Amino acid sequence: MTTISKAYKFRIYPNKTQQHQLYVEFAASKVVYNYFLNKSIELYNSEKKSSNYFDWAKELTELKKKEEYTWLQQASNGCLQQSLKDLDVAYKNFFRNIKKGVKPGFPNFKKFNSSIRYSNVSCKYSKENHKIQLSKCGWINVADYKTPFGKLMNMTISKTKSGKWFVAICVEQELKKYVNESVSEVGIDVGIKSFLVDSNGDKIDNPNFLKRQDRKIKRLQRQLSKKKIGSNNCKKAKLKLAKEHEKIASQRTNFLHQNSTKLVKENKLIAIEDLNISGMVKNHRLAKSIMDVSWSEFFRMLTYKGERYDCEIKKIGRFEPTSKKCNNCGYIKLDMTLNERSWICPQCNSILDRDINAAKNILSLALDRKEVV
Ligand SMILES: [Zn+2]
Repeated sequence: MTTISKAYKFRIYPNKTQQHQLYVEFAASKVVYNYFLNKSIELYNSEKKSSNYFDWAKELTELKKKEEYTWLQQASNGCLQQSLKDLDVAYKNFFRNIKKGVKPGFPNFKKFNSSIRYSNVSCKYSKENHKIQLSKCGWINVADYKTPFGKLMNMTISKTKSGKWFVAICVEQELKKYVNESVSEVGIDVGIKSFLVDSNGDKIDNPNFLKRQDRKIKRLQRQLSKKKIGSNNCKKAKLKLAKEHEKIASQRTNFLHQNSTKLVKENKLIAIEDLNISGMVKNHRLAKSIMDVSWSEFFRMLTYKGERYDCEIKKIGRFEPTSKKCNNCGYIKLDMTLNERSWICPQCNSILDRDINAAKNILSLALDRKEVV
Protein backbone atom coordinates (compact mmCIF):
# COMPACT_ATOMS: atom_id res chain seq x y z
CA MET A 1 0.00 0.00 0.00
CA THR A 2 1.38 3.36 -0.96
CA THR A 3 0.98 6.24 1.42
CA ILE A 4 1.45 9.92 0.89
CA SER A 5 1.87 12.70 3.38
CA LYS A 6 -0.50 15.58 3.17
CA ALA A 7 -0.66 18.83 5.08
CA TYR A 8 -3.82 20.68 6.04
CA LYS A 9 -3.25 24.32 6.78
CA PHE A 10 -5.56 26.44 8.89
CA ARG A 11 -5.47 29.78 10.56
CA ILE A 12 -5.50 29.51 14.34
CA TYR A 13 -6.33 31.96 17.12
CA PRO A 14 -4.21 31.38 20.20
CA ASN A 15 -5.14 33.63 23.14
CA LYS A 16 -2.58 35.81 24.96
CA THR A 17 -1.48 33.06 27.37
CA GLN A 18 -1.18 30.54 24.58
CA GLN A 19 0.82 32.98 22.47
CA HIS A 20 3.20 33.49 25.35
CA GLN A 21 3.63 29.72 25.68
CA LEU A 22 4.28 29.44 21.94
CA TYR A 23 6.97 32.12 22.09
CA VAL A 24 8.67 30.18 24.88
CA GLU A 25 8.55 27.05 22.74
CA PHE A 26 9.85 28.87 19.65
CA ALA A 27 12.83 29.96 21.71
CA ALA A 28 13.32 26.61 23.46
CA SER A 29 13.28 24.54 20.29
CA LYS A 30 15.83 26.88 18.71
CA VAL A 31 18.12 26.73 21.75
CA VAL A 32 17.91 22.93 21.90
CA TYR A 33 18.57 22.57 18.17
CA ASN A 34 21.62 24.82 18.26
CA TYR A 35 22.96 23.35 21.50
CA PHE A 36 23.06 19.81 20.12
CA LEU A 37 24.22 20.88 16.70
CA ASN A 38 27.16 22.60 18.34
CA LYS A 39 27.96 19.53 20.45
CA SER A 40 27.79 17.26 17.41
CA ILE A 41 30.11 19.48 15.42
CA GLU A 42 32.61 19.50 18.29
CA LEU A 43 32.38 15.72 18.61
CA TYR A 44 32.89 15.31 14.91
CA ASN A 45 35.82 17.70 14.76
CA SER A 46 37.62 16.15 17.72
CA GLU A 47 36.88 12.44 17.27
CA LYS A 48 35.26 12.19 13.79
CA LYS A 49 32.33 10.52 15.50
CA SER A 50 28.67 11.01 14.73
CA SER A 51 25.87 11.31 17.23
CA ASN A 52 22.13 10.97 16.76
CA TYR A 53 18.65 11.62 18.05
CA PHE A 54 18.82 8.96 20.78
CA ASP A 55 22.06 10.33 22.26
CA TRP A 56 20.65 13.84 22.25
CA ALA A 57 17.24 12.91 23.67
CA LYS A 58 18.93 11.18 26.61
CA GLU A 59 21.16 14.15 27.22
CA LEU A 60 18.31 16.62 26.95
CA THR A 61 16.79 15.26 30.18
CA GLU A 62 20.06 16.03 31.99
CA LEU A 63 20.39 19.41 30.30
CA LYS A 64 17.02 20.55 31.62
CA LYS A 65 18.27 20.03 35.17
CA LYS A 66 21.16 22.47 34.75
CA GLU A 67 20.46 25.84 36.27
CA GLU A 68 20.74 27.96 33.14
CA TYR A 69 18.52 25.58 31.20
CA THR A 70 15.72 24.86 33.69
CA TRP A 71 13.50 27.24 31.71
CA LEU A 72 13.40 24.63 28.96
CA GLN A 73 11.07 22.66 31.23
CA GLN A 74 8.37 25.21 30.41
CA ALA A 75 8.33 23.95 26.83
CA SER A 76 6.47 20.78 25.90
CA ASN A 77 8.49 17.63 25.25
CA GLY A 78 6.90 17.21 21.87
CA CYS A 79 8.37 20.33 20.32
CA LEU A 80 11.83 19.72 21.80
CA GLN A 81 11.83 16.12 20.60
CA GLN A 82 10.72 17.21 17.16
CA SER A 83 13.50 19.77 17.10
CA LEU A 84 16.00 16.95 17.76
CA LYS A 85 14.37 14.81 15.08
CA ASP A 86 14.72 17.67 12.59
CA LEU A 87 18.35 18.03 13.58
CA ASP A 88 18.78 14.28 13.12
CA VAL A 89 17.51 14.54 9.53
CA ALA A 90 19.80 17.50 8.78
CA TYR A 91 22.75 15.77 10.41
CA LYS A 92 22.21 12.50 8.54
CA ASN A 93 22.14 14.44 5.27
CA PHE A 94 25.44 15.95 6.24
CA PHE A 95 26.99 12.47 6.71
CA ARG A 96 25.42 11.16 3.55
CA ASN A 97 27.09 14.02 1.68
CA ILE A 98 30.48 13.16 3.19
CA LYS A 99 30.08 9.57 2.00
CA LYS A 100 29.09 10.74 -1.47
CA GLY A 101 32.22 12.87 -1.56
CA VAL A 102 30.26 16.12 -1.67
CA LYS A 103 32.10 18.89 0.09
CA PRO A 104 30.58 18.73 3.56
CA GLY A 105 28.96 21.66 5.17
CA PHE A 106 27.48 21.30 8.63
CA PRO A 107 23.78 22.06 9.01
CA ASN A 108 23.13 25.71 9.75
CA PHE A 109 22.43 27.08 13.19
CA LYS A 110 18.95 28.47 13.68
CA LYS A 111 18.91 32.20 14.01
CA PHE A 112 15.27 32.84 14.51
CA ASN A 113 12.29 30.54 14.70
CA SER A 114 9.09 31.60 13.05
CA SER A 115 7.66 28.10 13.19
CA ILE A 116 7.84 25.02 15.36
CA ARG A 117 6.87 21.44 14.86
CA TYR A 118 5.25 19.17 17.39
CA SER A 119 5.63 15.42 17.12
CA ASN A 120 2.37 13.50 17.37
CA VAL A 121 2.95 12.65 21.04
CA SER A 122 2.12 16.18 22.09
CA CYS A 123 -0.56 17.36 19.74
CA LYS A 124 -3.96 16.29 18.54
CA TYR A 125 -6.98 17.62 16.73
CA SER A 126 -10.59 17.34 17.60
CA LYS A 127 -13.19 16.25 15.12
CA GLU A 128 -16.09 17.61 17.12
CA ASN A 129 -15.12 21.04 18.35
CA HIS A 130 -12.87 22.25 15.54
CA LYS A 131 -9.81 22.82 17.67
CA ILE A 132 -6.29 21.60 17.98
CA GLN A 133 -4.56 20.71 21.22
CA LEU A 134 -0.91 21.25 22.07
CA SER A 135 0.23 19.73 25.32
CA LYS A 136 1.18 22.89 27.21
CA CYS A 137 -1.11 25.32 25.42
CA GLY A 138 -4.38 23.47 25.69
CA TRP A 139 -7.10 23.79 23.05
CA ILE A 140 -6.60 26.45 20.37
CA ASN A 141 -9.38 27.73 18.12
CA VAL A 142 -9.13 26.99 14.41
CA ALA A 143 -10.79 28.82 11.52
CA ASP A 144 -12.45 27.09 8.54
CA TYR A 145 -11.72 23.70 10.00
CA LYS A 146 -12.02 20.56 7.91
CA THR A 147 -11.27 17.29 9.66
CA PRO A 148 -8.01 15.84 8.32
CA PHE A 149 -8.11 12.13 7.64
CA GLY A 150 -5.19 9.76 7.95
CA LYS A 151 -2.60 9.10 10.61
CA LEU A 152 -1.38 12.21 12.41
CA MET A 153 2.38 12.68 11.94
CA ASN A 154 3.10 16.14 13.29
CA MET A 155 1.85 19.70 13.45
CA THR A 156 3.68 22.87 12.57
CA ILE A 157 2.70 26.13 14.19
CA SER A 158 3.87 29.27 12.46
CA LYS A 159 3.48 33.00 12.81
CA THR A 160 3.64 35.33 9.84
CA LYS A 161 5.24 38.75 9.83
CA SER A 162 1.87 40.39 9.98
CA GLY A 163 1.06 38.51 13.16
CA LYS A 164 -1.25 35.77 11.88
CA TRP A 165 -0.92 32.29 13.33
CA PHE A 166 -1.28 29.07 11.34
CA VAL A 167 -1.18 25.35 11.89
CA ALA A 168 -0.16 22.80 9.27
CA ILE A 169 -1.48 19.39 10.27
CA CYS A 170 0.60 16.73 8.58
CA VAL A 171 -1.01 13.31 8.12
CA GLU A 172 -0.14 10.14 6.30
CA GLN A 173 -2.84 8.97 3.93
CA GLU A 174 -3.40 5.93 1.83
CA LEU A 175 -2.93 6.84 -1.80
CA LYS A 176 -6.28 6.41 -3.47
CA LYS A 177 -5.85 5.39 -7.05
CA TYR A 178 -7.54 7.95 -9.24
CA VAL A 179 -8.65 6.62 -12.58
CA ASN A 180 -7.83 9.14 -15.25
CA GLU A 181 -9.92 8.34 -18.28
CA SER A 182 -8.72 11.24 -20.33
CA VAL A 183 -6.73 10.48 -23.49
CA SER A 184 -5.63 14.00 -24.22
CA GLU A 185 -2.00 14.99 -24.36
CA VAL A 186 -0.98 18.58 -24.07
CA GLY A 187 2.16 20.69 -24.24
CA ILE A 188 2.39 23.89 -22.26
CA ASP A 189 4.52 26.95 -22.66
CA VAL A 190 4.80 29.47 -19.86
CA GLY A 191 5.46 33.12 -20.55
CA ILE A 192 5.20 36.67 -19.44
CA LYS A 193 2.33 37.70 -21.65
CA SER A 194 0.04 34.82 -20.75
CA PHE A 195 0.68 32.68 -17.71
CA LEU A 196 0.53 29.68 -19.98
CA VAL A 197 -0.49 28.69 -23.46
CA ASP A 198 -1.18 25.09 -24.38
CA SER A 199 -0.82 23.17 -27.61
CA ASN A 200 -4.59 23.25 -28.16
CA GLY A 201 -4.43 27.02 -28.29
CA ASP A 202 -5.99 27.58 -24.88
CA LYS A 203 -4.51 30.39 -22.83
CA ILE A 204 -4.51 31.17 -19.15
CA ASP A 205 -3.93 34.84 -18.57
CA ASN A 206 -1.81 36.16 -15.79
CA PRO A 207 -4.13 37.05 -12.96
CA ASN A 208 -4.67 40.79 -13.06
CA PHE A 209 -4.22 41.12 -9.32
CA LEU A 210 -0.47 40.92 -9.93
CA LYS A 211 -0.24 44.29 -11.64
CA ARG A 212 -2.62 45.93 -9.24
CA GLN A 213 -0.66 44.65 -6.30
CA ASP A 214 2.64 45.61 -7.83
CA ARG A 215 1.52 49.24 -7.66
CA LYS A 216 0.15 48.87 -4.16
CA ILE A 217 3.35 47.30 -2.83
CA LYS A 218 5.44 50.07 -4.36
CA ARG A 219 3.24 52.67 -2.71
CA LEU A 220 3.53 50.95 0.67
CA GLN A 221 7.29 50.66 0.27
CA ARG A 222 7.52 54.37 -0.46
CA GLN A 223 5.42 55.16 2.61
CA LEU A 224 7.63 52.93 4.74
CA SER A 225 10.81 54.57 3.52
CA LYS A 226 9.58 57.95 4.75
CA LYS A 227 8.98 56.77 8.30
CA LYS A 228 11.49 57.19 11.10
CA ILE A 229 13.12 53.85 11.83
CA GLY A 230 11.85 52.34 15.06
CA SER A 231 8.88 54.70 15.37
CA ASN A 232 5.35 53.45 15.86
CA ASN A 233 4.38 54.67 12.41
CA CYS A 234 7.27 52.72 10.95
CA LYS A 235 6.03 49.56 12.67
CA LYS A 236 2.54 50.17 11.35
CA ALA A 237 3.81 50.69 7.81
CA LYS A 238 5.90 47.52 8.03
CA LEU A 239 2.88 45.56 9.20
CA LYS A 240 0.79 46.90 6.31
CA LEU A 241 3.47 45.89 3.83
CA ALA A 242 3.83 42.43 5.35
CA LYS A 243 0.04 41.94 5.17
CA GLU A 244 0.00 42.90 1.51
CA HIS A 245 2.84 40.50 0.69
CA GLU A 246 0.99 37.67 2.45
CA LYS A 247 -2.21 38.49 0.58
CA ILE A 248 -0.43 38.24 -2.78
CA ALA A 249 1.23 35.00 -1.78
CA SER A 250 -2.06 33.38 -0.85
CA GLN A 251 -3.86 34.59 -3.98
CA ARG A 252 -0.99 33.33 -6.08
CA THR A 253 -1.04 29.90 -4.40
CA ASN A 254 -4.81 29.60 -4.98
CA PHE A 255 -4.39 30.48 -8.63
CA LEU A 256 -1.64 27.88 -9.08
CA HIS A 257 -3.59 25.17 -7.25
CA GLN A 258 -6.74 25.68 -9.29
CA ASN A 259 -4.98 25.59 -12.63
CA SER A 260 -2.61 22.72 -11.88
CA THR A 261 -5.42 20.50 -10.57
CA LYS A 262 -7.54 21.23 -13.62
CA LEU A 263 -4.71 20.36 -16.01
CA VAL A 264 -3.77 17.02 -14.42
CA LYS A 265 -7.42 15.96 -14.21
CA GLU A 266 -8.14 16.80 -17.84
CA ASN A 267 -5.04 15.28 -19.43
CA LYS A 268 -3.23 11.97 -19.56
CA LEU A 269 0.09 13.55 -20.46
CA ILE A 270 1.46 17.04 -19.97
CA ALA A 271 4.70 18.12 -21.59
CA ILE A 272 6.61 20.97 -19.99
CA GLU A 273 9.92 22.66 -20.45
CA ASP A 274 12.62 22.09 -17.87
CA LEU A 275 12.99 25.66 -16.71
CA ASN A 276 16.18 26.76 -15.11
CA ILE A 277 14.50 29.05 -12.65
CA SER A 278 17.55 29.80 -10.52
CA GLY A 279 19.46 30.73 -13.65
CA MET A 280 16.80 33.14 -14.83
CA VAL A 281 17.76 36.73 -15.00
CA LYS A 282 17.25 38.44 -11.68
CA ASN A 283 14.62 41.04 -12.15
CA HIS A 284 13.65 43.78 -9.78
CA ARG A 285 10.14 44.17 -11.01
CA LEU A 286 7.88 42.53 -8.51
CA ALA A 287 5.36 41.13 -10.96
CA LYS A 288 8.14 39.49 -12.92
CA SER A 289 9.85 38.02 -9.89
CA ILE A 290 6.53 36.62 -8.71
CA MET A 291 6.10 34.97 -12.10
CA ASP A 292 9.47 33.27 -11.81
CA VAL A 293 8.54 31.78 -8.48
CA SER A 294 5.11 30.88 -9.80
CA TRP A 295 6.36 28.78 -12.68
CA SER A 296 8.65 26.64 -10.58
CA GLU A 297 5.92 26.23 -7.98
CA PHE A 298 3.41 25.43 -10.71
CA PHE A 299 5.62 22.71 -12.20
CA ARG A 300 6.23 21.30 -8.73
CA MET A 301 2.46 21.09 -8.21
CA LEU A 302 1.94 19.48 -11.62
CA THR A 303 4.55 16.85 -10.80
CA TYR A 304 3.11 15.71 -7.50
CA LYS A 305 -0.51 16.07 -8.59
CA GLY A 306 0.29 14.18 -11.78
CA GLU A 307 1.19 11.18 -9.65
CA ARG A 308 -2.03 11.45 -7.69
CA TYR A 309 -4.25 11.90 -10.73
CA ASP A 310 -2.54 9.42 -13.00
CA CYS A 311 -1.26 11.98 -15.47
CA GLU A 312 2.24 11.70 -16.85
CA ILE A 313 4.41 14.83 -16.69
CA LYS A 314 7.23 14.89 -19.21
CA LYS A 315 9.99 17.45 -19.18
CA ILE A 316 11.97 18.41 -22.25
CA GLY A 317 15.41 20.01 -22.20
CA ARG A 318 15.45 23.75 -22.03
CA PHE A 319 17.82 24.17 -24.95
CA GLU A 320 15.37 22.91 -27.54
CA PRO A 321 14.39 25.64 -30.03
CA THR A 322 10.72 25.60 -29.14
CA SER A 323 9.66 29.03 -30.38
CA LYS A 324 11.90 29.23 -33.46
CA LYS A 325 10.88 25.95 -35.02
CA CYS A 326 7.79 25.64 -37.22
CA ASN A 327 5.69 22.88 -35.77
CA ASN A 328 4.23 22.03 -39.15
CA CYS A 329 7.37 21.45 -41.23
CA GLY A 330 10.36 21.80 -38.88
CA TYR A 331 11.78 24.95 -40.46
CA ILE A 332 13.90 26.91 -37.99
CA LYS A 333 13.65 30.69 -38.10
CA LEU A 334 16.91 31.97 -36.69
CA ASP A 335 16.27 35.70 -36.82
CA MET A 336 13.34 35.83 -34.46
CA THR A 337 13.04 38.65 -31.94
CA LEU A 338 11.21 38.52 -28.61
CA ASN A 339 8.60 40.96 -29.87
CA GLU A 340 7.41 38.79 -32.73
CA ARG A 341 4.16 37.35 -31.45
CA SER A 342 3.30 35.55 -34.68
CA TRP A 343 5.10 34.67 -37.87
CA ILE A 344 4.55 33.05 -41.24
CA CYS A 345 6.73 30.04 -41.99
CA PRO A 346 8.67 30.79 -45.21
CA GLN A 347 8.80 27.09 -46.04
CA CYS A 348 5.22 25.88 -45.60
CA ASN A 349 3.37 29.21 -45.24
CA SER A 350 1.74 28.25 -41.93
CA ILE A 351 0.66 31.19 -39.81
CA LEU A 352 2.13 30.55 -36.40
CA ASP A 353 1.26 32.06 -33.04
CA ARG A 354 4.54 32.19 -31.19
CA ASP A 355 3.31 30.67 -27.91
CA ILE A 356 0.95 28.06 -29.32
CA ASN A 357 3.66 26.95 -31.74
CA ALA A 358 6.10 26.63 -28.83
CA ALA A 359 3.60 24.59 -26.82
CA LYS A 360 3.04 22.29 -29.81
CA ASN A 361 6.80 21.81 -30.17
CA ILE A 362 7.13 21.00 -26.49
CA LEU A 363 4.48 18.32 -26.89
CA SER A 364 6.06 16.85 -30.06
CA LEU A 365 9.47 16.72 -28.41
CA ALA A 366 8.07 14.96 -25.38
CA LEU A 367 6.21 12.43 -27.54
CA ASP A 368 9.26 11.76 -29.74
CA ARG A 369 11.20 10.90 -26.65
CA LYS A 370 8.58 8.37 -25.64
CA GLU A 371 8.99 6.52 -28.92
CA VAL A 372 12.76 6.37 -28.51
CA VAL A 373 12.47 4.75 -25.08
ZN1 LIG B 1 6.71 25.42 -41.73
